[in-house]
Amino acid sequence: MDTMASFSLDGRVAVVTGGTRGLGAGFAEALGDAGAKLMIVGRDVEAAEIVLDRLRDKGADVRFVVADVTRQDDVRGALEATLDAYGRVDILVNNAGACVHAPALDVTPDDWRHVMDVNVDAVWRCSQTFGRHFVEQRSGTIVNIGSMSGMIVNRPQWQPAYNASKAAVHHLTRSLAAEWGPYGVRVNALAPGYIRTDMSPVDDPRFRQNWIEDAPMRRYGTVEELAPAVVFLASDASSFVTGSVLVADGGYTAF
Ligand code: NDP
Repeated sequence: MDTMASFSLDGRVAVVTGGTRGLGAGFAEALGDAGAKLMIVGRDVEAAEIVLDRLRDKGADVRFVVADVTRQDDVRGALEATLDAYGRVDILVNNAGACVHAPALDVTPDDWRHVMDVNVDAVWRCSQTFGRHFVEQRSGTIVNIGSMSGMIVNRPQWQPAYNASKAAVHHLTRSLAAEWGPYGVRVNALAPGYIRTDMSPVDDPRFRQNWIEDAPMRRYGTVEELAPAVVFLASDASSFVTGSVLVADGGYTAF
C-alpha cells in the first residue's frame, strides 16, 4: 500500500467551474499541486488571467475556457475544450455558486431563480454533461461544492434560496452516486462552513457573534484548509467513497 501515492493526480485532468476567484481558484491550485492538468471554467477573462499566471508560476499545466454554467451550450463547449486541450477528463469540481441574503418575504422571483439556476440547475447540467462522458469511459469523479447551509439555517442573515439549493446539491450528489457507481464514476460533495471569500464576509462585525463566537473553533476557515479535502475526494485516496457529503466547518454543525 502506498498511501501518499493514492492522493496523486498525476496524469489526471480536472475541470473546476467558477475557478476564477474564491474557493474555486484555491481548489484548482490544490488539484494542480497534486499533479492534475487543469481547465478553469468561468466568465471573467481578466480574473482568470491572474489565476492562470499564479498557477503557471507554480508549474501547473492550466488553461481557461469562457463559459457560463447556466448555459448548456457553454457547458458542452467546456467539455469539448477540455478534450481538445488534454484528450481526456477525469475530475469535475462543481464549484460555481451564488448567494442572495434576504428574508423569505423579501426574496424576489428573480433572486430565487438566480440562486437555483447557478447552484442547482448548473450543477445538474454540468454533472449530466460530464457524467455522460465519465459513464462512457467507465471512470471519473465529481466533487460538488455544497455547504453546511444545506444542513443548518444560517443566522443572523436569512438566505432561504441558498439553503434550499445546497440541500438539493447534497441529495443530487447521492442520487448520481447511486446511479453511476456501477460504471466506476464516484460523486461526492464537500460541505464547507464559513470560509473567507467574496461570498462570505467573515470579518463583518454584524456576523461575528453567530459565525465566529458561536463556532467550536471560534474562527472561520481558509481555502488552504479546505482545498486538500477536494484533492481527497477527487483522488484514489477516496476510491471507496461515493455519495458522501464531507463536512468541513470547524465543528459549526456540531451544535
Ligand atoms: P465567490 O462568490 O467568491 O466565487 C464564486 C465563483 O463562481 C466565481 O468565480 C464566479 O465567477 C463563479 N460563478 C458564479 N456564477 C457563475 C456562472 N453562471 N458561470 C460560471 N461561473 C460562475 O464564492 P466562493 O468562492 O465563496 O464559493 C465557491 C463555492 O463554495 C460556491 O458554490 C459556494 O456556495 C460554496 N461555499 C462557500 C462558502 C464560503 O464560506 N465561502 C461556504 C460554503 C459553500 P464570476 O466572477 O464570473 O461571478
